[in-house]
Amino acid sequence: MTTSESHRHIEAVERHAAHNYHPLPVVIASGDGAWVTDVDGRRYLDCLAAYSALNLGHAHPRLVAVAHEQLDRLTLVSRAFHHDRMAAFVTGLADLVGPLVVAEGPGGTGEAMVLPMNTGAEAVESAIKVVRKHAHDVRGIAEPEIVVADGNFHGRTTTIVSFSGDPDARDGFGPYTPGFVSVPYGDADALAAALTERTAAVLLEPIQGEAGVVTPPPGYLARVREATAERGVLLVADEIQSGLARAGSTLAISHDGVRPDLVTLGKALGGGIVPVSAVVGSSEVLGVLTPGTHGSTFGGNPLAAAVAAEVVAMLADGTWQERSRTLGARLHDGLSELVGHGLSSVRGRGLWAGIDVAPEVGTARDVAERLLARGILAKDTHTTTLRLAPPLVITAEEIDWLLDRLRDCLAAV
Ligand SMILES: *Cc1c(COP(=O)(O)O)cnc(C)c1O
Repeated sequence: MTTSESHRHIEAVERHAAHNYHPLPVVIASGDGAWVTDVDGRRYLDCLAAYSALNLGHAHPRLVAVAHEQLDRLTLVSRAFHHDRMAAFVTGLADLVGPLVVAEGPGGTGEAMVLPMNTGAEAVESAIKVVRKHAHDVRGIAEPEIVVADGNFHGRTTTIVSFSGDPDARDGFGPYTPGFVSVPYGDADALAAALTERTAAVLLEPIQGEAGVVTPPPGYLARVREATAERGVLLVADEIQSGLARAGSTLAISHDGVRPDLVTLGKALGGGIVPVSAVVGSSEVLGVLTPGTHGSTFGGNPLAAAVAAEVVAMLADGTWQERSRTLGARLHDGLSELVGHGLSSVRGRGLWAGIDVAPEVGTARDVAERLLARGILAKDTHTTTLRLAPPLVITAEEIDWLLDRLRDCLAAV
């Protein structure tokens, strides 16, 4: 199916790049909005959006302009010095996310603060370090524990895979970091029962993305907040995939009326241009970090800060969140009609869906390959689930087009 040009490219990559991914056989050369073009000039509607890193689409003109301007002026100074793009980034992000985070629970009412990092896994690692330090310094816990949920995905570092339930992610990478307890996702009683004198924090995805866009049962996150607040335990929401308008609101957890103590952000924060991540929380919690206790050479660099500040500015008036809700409703209406016609179930919120392919149709990978042949990029997760997360610039007509193609693929056995 692939031409000689893309074939040559794929062969070279197979030979010289580590085999830690199994990409679909398409070689993308350019992107614009919700669309990409491959080396042979074929166009595809991008319904993965780099796992939500491209919430604002490929090459958004506002972001590209800011990045170009910054590239020509200043890209890196390290945190040894101040630079003139940091204030707008941390102030903007504190204004956007601060009101959704602080003022309730043991995280207290201090002013919102931002810890800038680069990748998502780094933000999660940083949050883990912060809650451990908070437990040591503020609560006098010698060996703090963190409660996580089964089916979690928080990244790929040695500490993070230590509490992953996915054998591919975890097996063979020991010895593992101790200090984590995993409980079933969605079971508030199990979580409350796991909280002890030693519990520093609960770390959760408000919607589990990699697990297949698994939404929690109604009331679950509110009960988790109650149980943690009662015991003085911090609540950390990993919003690296669910946040920044993907699920129809700035933070997915706000949908449940919950304010966590710390939030990790990444992916879309970099506008699809540079890796940018952050931990946001109150000054009472993030204040446990003092000079020398944590750092990153590239974290908060001028290029990253300029792009992220623009992303934050674009999200400030709620237009993208609203777009995700309205177009998401259209997507979910269309998908629910396919349940019983090739799909066994559909989950998600906003422009984000996990769809389970009925066994007689084939695997989710089979469906992803059929979609590819029809000009749509999507990615399977686990064996039977396909995730749909198009850039939020997608139009209503394009959603209908996607639904039509998907209907074809589910019929073609
Ligand atoms: C992608 C993801 C991460 C890891 O981000 P990287 O930038 O790939 O390190 C962490 N948590 C969640 C919820 C994610 O979806």
